[in-house]
Amino acid sequence: MAFDIEMIKSVYAKMAERIDKAREVVGKPLTLSEKILYNHLWEGNPTKAFVRGKDYVDFAPDRIACQDATAQMALLQFMQAGKSKVAVPTTVHCDHLIQAKEGAEADLRNANNVSSEVFNFLESVSNKYGIGFWKPGAGIIHQVVLENYAFPGGMMIGTDSHTVNAGGLGMVAIGVGGADAVDVMAGMAWELKFPKLIGVKLTGKLSGWTAPKDVILKVAEILTVKGGTDAIVEYFGPGATAMSCTGKGTICNMGAEIGATTSTFGYDASMERYLRATDRADVADAANQVKTYLTADDEVYANPEQYFDKVIEINLSELGPLLNGPFTPDLSTEVGTAMNEKAKANDWPLAVEWGLIGSCTNSSYEDLSRAASIAQQALDKGLKMKSELGINPGSEQVRYTADRDGILNVFEKLDAKIFTNACGPCIGQWARYSDPKNAPKNSIVHSFNRNFAKRADGNPNTHAFVASPEITAAIAIAGRLDFNPLKDKLINENGEEVMFEEPTGWELPPKGFEVKDNGYLEPEADGSHVQVTVKEDSERLQLLIPFEPIGSEIKGAKLLIKAFGKCTTDHISMAGPWLRYRGHLDNISNNCLIGAVNAFGKKTNFVKNQLTGEFGGVPDTARAYKAVGVKTIVVGDHNYGEGSSREHAAMEPRHLGVAAVIVKSFARIHETNLKKQGMLGLTFANEADYDVIQEDDTFNFLDLNEFAPGKQLTIEAVHADGSKDVIKVNHTYNQSQIDWYNEGSALNLIKKENAS
Ligand code: SF4
Repeated sequence: MAFDIEMIKSVYAKMAERIDKAREVVGKPLTLSEKILYNHLWEGNPTKAFVRGKDYVDFAPDRIACQDATAQMALLQFMQAGKSKVAVPTTVHCDHLIQAKEGAEADLRNANNVSSEVFNFLESVSNKYGIGFWKPGAGIIHQVVLENYAFPGGMMIGTDSHTVNAGGLGMVAIGVGGADAVDVMAGMAWELKFPKLIGVKLTGKLSGWTAPKDVILKVAEILTVKGGTDAIVEYFGPGATAMSCTGKGTICNMGAEIGATTSTFGYDASMERYLRATDRADVADAANQVKTYLTADDEVYANPEQYFDKVIEINLSELGPLLNGPFTPDLSTEVGTAMNEKAKANDWPLAVEWGLIGSCTNSSYEDLSRAASIAQQALDKGLKMKSELGINPGSEQVRYTADRDGILNVFEKLDAKIFTNACGPCIGQWARYSDPKNAPKNSIVHSFNRNFAKRADGNPNTHAFVASPEITAAIAIAGRLDFNPLKDKLINENGEEVMFEEPTGWELPPKGFEVKDNGYLEPEADGSHVQVTVKEDSERLQLLIPFEPIGSEIKGAKLLIKAFGKCTTDHISMAGPWLRYRGHLDNISNNCLIGAVNAFGKKTNFVKNQLTGEFGGVPDTARAYKAVGVKTIVVGDHNYGEGSSREHAAMEPRHLGVAAVIVKSFARIHETNLKKQGMLGLTFANEADYDVIQEDDTFNFLDLNEFAPGKQLTIEAVHADGSKDVIKVNHTYNQSQIDWYNEGSALNLIKKENAS
């Protein structure tokens, strides 16, 4: 069973009581976002109104989705929790580890060879713990989720930032780190800062060359890459209801590009059509019963300024096709003359070498059919492709249906490469160059979401522009970045001038969706007998060994590194080539803090081993201390651990023997991650004490045996000359988090509670 109708019905069953109660405690009409949030409170019925952008609230999500790169460590951790099954419906999707090179068949075969160990591991863990498993080639996580699991009014978390795509079907769907997903899998609450709310009113109607993609490209221009931070973007208005469900998905998907917590739309006829077309009539019927709870109260959309923290209005009838980029998704330019001028002024290559259509952002049947209508015109009008074209269907269901309906064949006649139903070029899994670092300057256009330098092909000189699938197709055929299909003529093979007509397409396949093997593996009802094997000599996977409690006595601990200035999760646990080791804690720990600048000497990955007097890399030095049983301390500046929520940034120092991280201030998620791994995350009571720490310092914790909520701790820093400074440090541990520390980690505690 792909989705759980009983679970959905249970969410709907409590809606009326909870949302009516929420309206009472909030004291005013509710937005859709608030309705979903208040209906998913961990505590049950709402008892108080939460302050947006301030209060941290515990939620109970309905679903979890994980992709293959992030699922490895998440599942390795979950295996530590001592549970026989996940507490919440969960799926794993193999989509990131497939490189695009020759075409779908060969590329999938290659991925199955190169990453079979990881895929097999994910499959067996899924089978054992009741997790739905989507095989390599089944599709991209967010497209598969939209087709199978998303439902109006639901709350989902996923270990990928574009989990937000499911807002297209009226969900509050949010990207999280693996540690958060593990908590929910293990039956714990999930904490989120109650978001602010941005309302986007869409008036008018999309037509001609303008697509849902242009709406989000416009929103990105207005709000910029940071404008959605800590907020849910809620779309409404006649322009919203007139749009397809998958178009709404595209808009929500790229909410990640403006930093939004998530984006969503109210339930409407387009969602009902999509649910019925994707074999979920029972979900549509259930949603129809609670319709009024699946959109905002009427008063909210009538006077949005009173209910949202910010309101934007876009008239879709006046919106034209846009190209956003290069290097950032919020740099918006109208197609045609405006792009010509900007490209010349900025020295962006006007010749386009590749057009790429697909990714989780724009790979629906509607997207492919509209792009194919342009490709068909190129064939009919005798136009030759001026650049190369690549297609990544979003799912096997879309691919199979598009193939049956002749859509893929149109692209193939233009010599397009049909890549695997996977992320491919969208995540740099694209073997475009043998030496990307020294590859030439060029422009590409794609219908993906991200266009940071090197994102698609590793070439820092690739200028990537984001556009709708139909504009991508037209520009790829014309081979020019400044081509305006609304106005410009092209010369065909007979030397005649021809023009494109407006794209056409189908919101949903006229003959319905069809698929032979969708790539889904249902887990066994009782997976207790399933063996999960991880080879001892594997370099990509390693079973986790529970962390030993650090204990209430820390004496003689040595300074590992005093990080200077910015120290993000990228400085602590780099990405790039290290992605390969995301499932192997010991191997990935070789990148621990190698990007952090040592305050002494201002070099990266160069610290002193106090025991030998020698200097070396941070991981090696930490390992040397650990080998002789000496605990270590990391000191940092402000906002330590900002960036991603990746739990590796806490697990690696923990694995290498770091007992405490003492900083001026923490990025909150990283601080929580340290707590979850059973470490001490502490802040200087007096920030100036950061300057007191010296390279040869030894630390003694004087009152750790009195570790209690709200109570300062005292540390003695012993300097090389024997002099001492006594440092007061603060912490934000509550009693349960202190219990995590005492047990060695949050998972150890869950396991213990489970066993008792
Ligand atoms: Fe992420 Fe791109 Fe894959 Fe979407 S297609 S999940 S954005 S890598």
